[in-house]
Amino acid sequence: MRRKLVAGNWKMHGSLATNAGLLQGVRDGVAGLAAEVAVCVPYPYLAQARAALDGSNVAWGAQDVSEHAQGAYTGEVSGAMLADFGCRYAIVGHSERRSYYGDTDAVVAAKFEAAQKAGIVPILCVGETLAEREANVTAEVVTRQLDAVLSRCGIAALARSVVAYEPVWAIGTGRTASPEQAQEVHAAIRARVARDDAGVAAALRILYGGSMKPANAAELMAQADIDGGLIGGAALVAADFVAICAAAA
Ligand code: PEP
Repeated sequence: MRRKLVAGNWKMHGSLATNAGLLQGVRDGVAGLAAEVAVCVPYPYLAQARAALDGSNVAWGAQDVSEHAQGAYTGEVSGAMLADFGCRYAIVGHSERRSYYGDTDAVVAAKFEAAQKAGIVPILCVGETLAEREANVTAEVVTRQLDAVLSRCGIAALARSVVAYEPVWAIGTGRTASPEQAQEVHAAIRARVARDDAGVAAALRILYGGSMKPANAAELMAQADIDGGLIGGAALVAADFVAICAAAA
């Protein structure tokens, strides 16, 4: 039985003042729930997240990581730096990074590897655009994104990661994939991994992300291959995020 994981992606939102209440609300709200919970906060707030969440059942992480270990890479943040702040997770390959910042499949695979080298669990995002869905190439797109990581890092590395299926057309749009649409892609991802290793596929956690909210979380997470959620907008409201975590538990 795969333990469900609900991870919040705060994106570029928050301040020291607003985060304080949000972190406390999440910490208190999910205490004792039988789901794993994490929040991926902007880099400047990692220390605040650690201070607020240490000793709780909420992990924290980052929304990206450099593919480089150290050096002259102005503006970048390494896996070792994230590890210094006690991060458990780093999102890699979020569609906003892929589309706005040029993170290619190869760069995402390098970031995945760099995170793991630093002891951080990568949350690898894959997902198709609306045009790709309409052209019926969803499975090809997510397989290509996954294969880039598999060919660089290998199946054993995938076993130490989390995958998030995030249809780009559902992120921040209020338009959610139906449970059937999401399940179909999750099953395809698991089948692709099973081609390399059935045991890794069976244990792999595949999260759904894309306008998940309290009203649709339970139905999505009841699907056989949906093992939790990667939550954007609803992660900024403690009561909503806690309700999604409760649905996962
Ligand atoms: C995300 O940013 O990963 C995401 C899923 O956002 P939202 O929940 O707002 O669609």
